[in-house]
Amino acid sequence: MSSEHVTHWINGKPFDGAAGRRGDLYEPSTGRLSGTVDFAGPAEIDAAVAAARAAFPGWRDTSLSQRVKILFRFRELLTAHRDELARIISSEHGKVVSDAAGEVARGLEVVEFACGIPHLLKGGFSENVSSRVDAYSILQPLGVVAGITPFNFPAMVPMWMFPVAIACGNTFILKPSEKDPSAAVRLAELWAEAGLPGGVFNVLHGDKIAVDGLLHHRDVKAVSFVGSTPIARYIYETAARNGKRVQALGGAKNHMVVLPDADLDLAADAAVSAGFGSAGERCMAISVVVAVDPVGDELLAKIKDRTARLKVGPGHDPAAEMGPLVTREHRDKVASYLDSGVAQGATLAVDGRETEILGERGEGFWLGPTILDHVTPEMDAYQDEIFGPVLSIVRVGSYEEAMELLDANPYGNGTAIFTNDGGAARRFQNEVEVGMVGINVPIPVPMAYYSFGGWKASLFGDSHAHGMEGVHFYTRTKAVTARWLDPSHGGVNLGFPTGD
Ligand code: NAD
Repeated sequence: MSSEHVTHWINGKPFDGAAGRRGDLYEPSTGRLSGTVDFAGPAEIDAAVAAARAAFPGWRDTSLSQRVKILFRFRELLTAHRDELARIISSEHGKVVSDAAGEVARGLEVVEFACGIPHLLKGGFSENVSSRVDAYSILQPLGVVAGITPFNFPAMVPMWMFPVAIACGNTFILKPSEKDPSAAVRLAELWAEAGLPGGVFNVLHGDKIAVDGLLHHRDVKAVSFVGSTPIARYIYETAARNGKRVQALGGAKNHMVVLPDADLDLAADAAVSAGFGSAGERCMAISVVVAVDPVGDELLAKIKDRTARLKVGPGHDPAAEMGPLVTREHRDKVASYLDSGVAQGATLAVDGRETEILGERGEGFWLGPTILDHVTPEMDAYQDEIFGPVLSIVRVGSYEEAMELLDANPYGNGTAIFTNDGGAARRFQNEVEVGMVGINVPIPVPMAYYSFGGWKASLFGDSHAHGMEGVHFYTRTKAVTARWLDPSHGGVNLGFPTGD
């Protein structure tokens, strides 16, 4: 369960100072106030950065084999505590426990990737590039790096970042979402148990003040951000202006194109799973189904049929497949798109406000699976990232019309095509301006050894998360040219060296 009071984790232990400001924590399934979280001000920001800075030289010089031993121990602890972490996540976020366990598992895969760091950090070596001169490259850590993460994956998204950053020899400050901060602290405790030296992994809680403190701190060398597009743009611009390396992953509006030759049962299963899993609060959730004529009516009927059978209830209820939304404000904002959609001409094919809830509805932040049909691009429900259990259906006349829709959309995180035509799928994969593409796969999240990231307004910066792009983001390459003189000296030469 979430702690009643959550504080920062600095230098290998809970912060023992008094907080100037705090935020409230809620249990989304009941609406009950469940605790508070300390918000960092300048003193805590300085303390976290100072701890990470002090730990850097020792950690940078820790041998690769020693780093890997700690990573393996952390992996074992994560596996052993997976269910406990899932319950913590569920109680603050609202998602069902099985889904939360899935997010821990996906984060764990990045830890496993990072366990291979000795191989990943190998540079190149060229012997005799000039007479008796060798050239080689080494990958070195940056120093103190920060990760700022969203509410929707309180364990997985931080684990896209810190296993790789730490394995590369950096020290890390995580600023998790203030809506569900407890998982981050539990992860810090597990790191300590695994033997990670104090100060290598720190957790700083808070809001814009904490974020801005990190963005402006001269000892923070790089910033990884995942969250909404307006904040991603702000982080990118501010961090870059302050001379930091930055990758900022933003919001999404993921389209699933269903061609007339698709297996409609498969497509309907996928649309419901990808639209309503985690109550649609996934950056890779499908929020728009693009039905290419003539499949619209038949596909809608199949989607409605499956939606009607979904069980909505508290995350800890094993019978529940979908939980509540994260906060009351977010629930109300998501629900407002039902009214605006209808007012702007859409059809409310399934109204999630009427969904039956397992157990007590209470004051929980409930909104059941909702389907808006006949959505068109001018509607707010299409233009905005709703980030909730609202699936929009847009009907188009052809593949080309579907592509025009996707091209015009500002986001480019994930997309999927459902078809049995290999040529159409290949054309889609080639043409679409989206970073992660699924072919008969609705949520094409790359494995840890590939990299995660979107295009267009879904990513600011040029490197994606984890995989080799993560290793490059968290290291600087140094190219060394070395000559060990044999006794014959060549003498002074002001010309440009050639390979002779
Ligand atoms: P958010 O942008 O509101 O918050 C993300 C982080 O930024 C939090 O730690 C928050 O404290 C901080 N923050 C919020 N407002 C800030 C401000 N004005 N100045 C500085 N920092 C600020 O996002 P959220 O609501 O927590 O998460 C949902 C969003 O994240 C969705 O848009 C979703 O698509 C996106 N997301 C994207 C990905 C991806 O990989 N592209 C993954 C997960 C979530």
